[in-house]
Amino acid sequence: MSRGQCGFTECEKPRNSYGLCDGHYQQKYRRREELRPLKKKSRQHYWENGRKVCPGCGKSKDAIEYSGDKYQPSGKKQYCKDCQRLSKAKKN
Ligand SMILES: [Zn+2]
Ligand SMILES: [Zn+2]
Repeated sequence: MSRGQCGFTECEKPRNSYGLCDGHYQQKYRRREELRPLKKKSRQHYWENGRKVCPGCGKSKDAIEYSGDKYQPSGKKQYCKDCQRLSKAKKN
């Protein structure tokens, strides 16, 4: 762990004056819970300027990289075409 990081081992967020990141500070002092890894915020439906981060590969890709899906609020699949292809390949 390098200086400036949250005191929680697996956490790479910047520490505040309590030696923890804001999320872990909340856990410990506000909710008085055991420290545990923070949940990552889901960005699955988060489109910005026609781009979205794919939850499969974690890359920001253009809308053209996603197949259409009328059941999704965005009108596009959550996962990019590459990840769709990979998940299909695994099943077979
Ligand atoms: Zn933390
Ligand atoms: Zn992907």
